[in-house]
Amino acid sequence: MDPAGQLAYTDAYARSVEARVATVDDSGETPLVLLDRTVFYPGGGGQPSDRGLLLRASDGRQWTVRAARKTGGDIVHELEPTSDGPPQRDDVLRVDLDWARRFALMRTHTALHALCGVVWRDYGALVTGGNMEPGGGRMDFEFERMSGDLVDEIEAKVNTELAAHRQVRVNVLPRDEAFAIPDLIRTKINLLPEGIRDIRTIEIVGLDLQADGGTHVANTSEVGGIRVTGYESKGRINKRIRLELVDPAG
Ligand SMILES: [Zn+2]
Repeated sequence: MDPAGQLAYTDAYARSVEARVATVDDSGETPLVLLDRTVFYPGGGGQPSDRGLLLRASDGRQWTVRAARKTGGDIVHELEPTSDGPPQRDDVLRVDLDWARRFALMRTHTALHALCGVVWRDYGALVTGGNMEPGGGRMDFEFERMSGDLVDEIEAKVNTELAAHRQVRVNVLPRDEAFAIPDLIRTKINLLPEGIRDIRTIEIVGLDLQADGGTHVANTSEVGGIRVTGYESKGRINKRIRLELVDPAG
């Protein structure tokens, strides 16, 4: 699969594309389908993979994609098994994301970056990990002096930053150039394997810059607001903060 066919990395808002089936592996429990292009994000960096549908216009059949994953350099789609079998090689299919779920993940992922940005800028705490579901997530920090009072303050600051209509930019930089950016060191860029030549970065302009493979909204105003739903100690230094999106409509 040509990397250019992996649309999620360059256009997070692409929710549908027409594609041709490259290979089908029907030997396991779930059929695995490789396409020549896809809008699916395969999971990684704490963001779960997308779900959605494959539709064959020639006969109206459709298949549910329950997950996608990265195998080698390819993005492979795992289908729900059906009694009349998977699509065939060279079939032309429409690839449709479960967009409500994906967009919630993009908003959640961007909110977590805003949290990282505030915690680094105002408290100097490094992020050590994170995870998310649509609408909520958690981040872990090396943040010895975190407390309930600080968490309230952090929540207010994150909401201020989200409301500031900050642009969110995707860049792909040569490795040497990326390593020269001091801010990137805190996201453990040093752990990236030697073989990776280009580093993808996500910048919330004026707030946060991280090496990152996920999908994000284009402007913080699309996130809406957040609420901190919990925090806990994972040791003397390591602390966890949980947040959820506050739906602007709700
Ligand atoms: Zn991210």
